[in-house]
Amino acid sequence: MPPAPQTIPCQYRTGKTLGSGTYAVVKEAIHIKTGKYYACKVINKKLMEGREYMLRNEIAVLRKVSKGHANIVTLHDYFETAHNLYLCFDLCTGGELFDRICAKGNYYELDAANLVRTILKAVKYIHDCGIVHRDLKPENLLFRTPAEDADIMIADFGLSRVMEEERFKLLTEICGTPGYMAPEIFLKTGHHKPVDIWAIGVITYFLLCGYTPFDRENQRLEMEAIIAGDYKFEPVEYWQNVSQTARDFVRTCLTIDPARRPTAAQALEHPWLASETPHFVPDP
Ligand code: ADP
Ligand code: MG
Repeated sequence: MPPAPQTIPCQYRTGKTLGSGTYAVVKEAIHIKTGKYYACKVINKKLMEGREYMLRNEIAVLRKVSKGHANIVTLHDYFETAHNLYLCFDLCTGGELFDRICAKGNYYELDAANLVRTILKAVKYIHDCGIVHRDLKPENLLFRTPAEDADIMIADFGLSRVMEEERFKLLTEICGTPGYMAPEIFLKTGHHKPVDIWAIGVITYFLLCGYTPFDRENQRLEMEAIIAGDYKFEPVEYWQNVSQTARDFVRTCLTIDPARRPTAAQALEHPWLASETPHFVPDP
């Protein structure tokens, strides 16, 4: 049984809004006693009617798992009121990977490989703990500090299993892009660890060229493209400095059949990531 949640959230004072996502608002929060800053995720209980118990269980797991890896945002505290659930995480002040990609246009291949390796190691850790992230995307990858070489942190995981129905509805009806979702999610044939590897393929593609592989005019076309694995390393101007090894890494992660997609451990052994020294010679 998870411990009984605290009911009075007055140990914290909330400040500015840091971001909002699929089902929550995240605010800066000061712990009044210690003066320490956190990121407080506020989830409206209406979104999970009848599933609160499931959520509390999941939170207990998340709390334990999130302490075990340097590149995962730690969950420090949680409490509830009649309407909301509050989760207090490490505060990441360096913003989302999404914004850094947009500001840069794209990443140099070596920098991209270093980021992807770090993310994959953290994903391997989560998977080894029996958890699937299910919503890996650059909006959920945060930098610990504003420094250029800040640690990248995985946020927003663990609760998606509980929120799934609601999230799917929100994603497909309101929130726009299903761009990082694996084919088997649409085909409703599976929802396991391989969905995270697919998402890493999409993220890597995005890092290397500055746009996503399945971006289409509307969601139906985007979904069809994902199911068919229909993407190209084009326009060529954006890919001319990207090695065949990097493209092969993306291709491997974007294997349509989840059973044939590499695991996190296998993806880490891909030549693009296996050696930390650069071996990228742009194609002639
Ligand atoms: P949702 O489940 O609604 O997507 P997230 O946990 O992804 O919620 O949080 C939404 C946004 O809030 C993130 O994309 C990020 O910009 C910001 N955010 C979340 N957690 C933190 C954190 N620990 N530190 C700083 N900002 C955060
Ligand atoms: Mg999110």
